[in-house]
Amino acid sequence: MTIDVARSIPEIRNIVAKAKQDGQTVGLVPTMGGLHAGHISLIEHAGSLCDHVVVSVFVNPTQFNRKEDFENYPGNEAEDLKVLSGTCTNSVFAPSATEVYPEGFATSVTVSTGDKILCDAHRPGHFDGVATVVTKLFLQTGADIACFGEKDYQQLFIVKRLVADLNIPLRIEPVPTVRETDGLALSSRNARLTPEERLLAPRLHRALEQVADAVRGGEAASLAIAKAQTWLESDNRFDVEYLEMRSGKTLEILERHDEQDEPRVFIAANLGKVRLIDNIGV
Ligand code: AMP
Repeated sequence: MTIDVARSIPEIRNIVAKAKQDGQTVGLVPTMGGLHAGHISLIEHAGSLCDHVVVSVFVNPTQFNRKEDFENYPGNEAEDLKVLSGTCTNSVFAPSATEVYPEGFATSVTVSTGDKILCDAHRPGHFDGVATVVTKLFLQTGADIACFGEKDYQQLFIVKRLVADLNIPLRIEPVPTVRETDGLALSSRNARLTPEERLLAPRLHRALEQVADAVRGGEAASLAIAKAQTWLESDNRFDVEYLEMRSGKTLEILERHDEQDEPRVFIAANLGKVRLIDNIGV
């Protein structure tokens, strides 16, 4: 089945309006393309909850704080459309950058959740770019729900906050992280790893598990983290940006494991030219 691709905001609004006239509920899955099984899991989840699934494919320039990261972001629309044709996707929204940010664009959304933590400390302006584009996608599509992956847990956290704060009539649905059999979280960026780096990459997830096992056994997070980070960086391939245990409810830093806090361990590290992030519940 070929899927129609809406390029303009009026086109996607028409598609959604028709679905709603027919009494259908609409689910949105925002993506930046480079589609993989993680994205498909979000799409299937949206399909299990809604009658009509819109997948947006838009590499949002305003959320990249490094120009080369934006320029090297893997994308192949023909390939993505082929992947989507095998899923329950009903429509695709793939606008151009000028459709989303026409000349004179001057408004942005900022979520201030307190101190700059995790990715917010390392990617200045990233979450403002995310908050702005998802707000626009919510308003452009008028979807009833939107699915976001736990892989980008801080993004999920921020998007939930913005929907609550701006009274956007849309429900955010979290979806668990999809992994390769060796533990590596699926990511469009994995395609940029060399074959040798790809073999090393699952160590990121192993470091998270080491911390999780140790804190569950009663060890203090700072000690468990120091050991895991030393192990991960021992052969000078990984450069850790952060490795921390925080509450999944509040993102506050934690030193001791207590189930009440819904603890999670978060990591970001550079492996060669590729920045990888991951997190797990403890
Ligand atoms: P991206 O295209 O990387 O911006 O991701 C689009 C959506 O897919 C976001 O909500 C991500 O959190 C989600 N996602 C990316 N990778 C995974 C994964 N491995 N498992 C589940 N969801 C994912």
